[in-house]
Amino acid sequence: MKNTTAWEKYGKKELKELEALNSEYKAFLDGGKTERECVDQVVEMAEKAGYEELGGVLASGRKIKAGDKLYAVCMGKTIAMFNIGSEPLECGMNILGAHIDSPRLDVKGNPLYESNGQAYLDTHYYGGIKKYLWVTQPMAIHGVVCKKDGTTVKLAIGEDPKDPVFVFTDLLIHLSHAQMDKKASDVVSGEALDLLVGNRPLAKADLGEDEKEAVKANVLRLIKDKYGFDEEDFYSAELEIVPAGKARDCGFDSSMILAYGHDDRVCAFTSLKAMLDVEAGKRTTCCLLVDKEEIGSVGATGMSGHFFENAVAELVANMEGESALKTRKALANSMMLSSDVDAAYDPLYAEAYEAKNSAYMSCGLALMKFTGSRGKGGSNDANAEYIAKVRKIFDDADVSYQFSELGKVDVGGGGTIAYIMAKFGMEVIDSGVPLFNMHAPYEVASKADVYEAYKGYKAFIK
Ligand code: MN
Ligand code: MN
Repeated sequence: MKNTTAWEKYGKKELKELEALNSEYKAFLDGGKTERECVDQVVEMAEKAGYEELGGVLASGRKIKAGDKLYAVCMGKTIAMFNIGSEPLECGMNILGAHIDSPRLDVKGNPLYESNGQAYLDTHYYGGIKKYLWVTQPMAIHGVVCKKDGTTVKLAIGEDPKDPVFVFTDLLIHLSHAQMDKKASDVVSGEALDLLVGNRPLAKADLGEDEKEAVKANVLRLIKDKYGFDEEDFYSAELEIVPAGKARDCGFDSSMILAYGHDDRVCAFTSLKAMLDVEAGKRTTCCLLVDKEEIGSVGATGMSGHFFENAVAELVANMEGESALKTRKALANSMMLSSDVDAAYDPLYAEAYEAKNSAYMSCGLALMKFTGSRGKGGSNDANAEYIAKVRKIFDDADVSYQFSELGKVDVGGGGTIAYIMAKFGMEVIDSGVPLFNMHAPYEVASKADVYEAYKGYKAFIK
């Protein structure tokens, strides 16, 4: 069995559609560098398509019926969308799931300090990263600062061409003899990843009596003037350091996209587009975009939280009368594509892959029966009968797809949200877009795979 490139099957019409979809995807990436920014964009797109907020509909006492389009948001970071079908919810849903958090550096609670004439923001990385890749690159600060008066300041500094950017410094090569002999995991330590944010001291005359550090004091003044918050407000902030700048076409042929956050916004965006473009028939369709996958799907906004289950219970209660059993049946009878990115076979690092069970760039949606590591530990296992059904759906819709495992046996591995949904008893398979250099500041995806993912998700929920 051999994988074939999807590019060869496209005519003029498909290529036009492919480019339009990818342009929209790049704009989605540029507008959504944090999970909160992604949710804001999704809500805007959903409302434009006629979706209503579930809480408001429930509060109004209105009875939900077939054809209704609803969404629910959890703490601004996770969102579930439902397009209600004609059969009872207990018959199950067709679910598209993906995550919208990405690896990055988070600003600590007490972050700002001055050292030897520079001001820095202390960070703690989020998700699995090769730390040495994140130094000497232009970085932006995105997120929210929540103040005691109940107001929230939204920040995205470093994206407008007039904005300054920030940087994590690295040791110059001339003095790196000892550093170059270190293991890659030790070359840049977690505590060395402090963001350079200032170098100019406040004039002596303007310094307060208890202000000893003039560079830090100057940064705090600028923050207060421009963004309206104080040093203590960092305690109640969620600020994420991400690569600055826009998603770009990659290659002479512009066949790929180089961008921050493909993992997993590439699956989130294509799932969302499919959800918005397909009208529900008999079965209710659902698109679930969640937070915290990169650190184990923990917390209220991660897949392990009860937000999704609660939303389904609310729907059942409204439409059919409160029933714990019907809620369980609705979940157990569902089918899901749990979508997350896959490792694309990289010939420059061939030793990490098993060639005939790897996903290839531009060969379409990658399906994984199981993920996990070292003997499938921590994995979901998609049922063979279900995989046969998914193959038929994709073949009938002329979707390019491939089967893969993440790397060679015992080389590594990874987890997704699939096993959490599988606990409800539903049919789940991991599917997603193959990437080069996953979890690096800039990752590579093929435009053909973005297009095939969208087509596959559409066929699946139809
Ligand atoms: Mn990841
Ligand atoms: Mn992922």
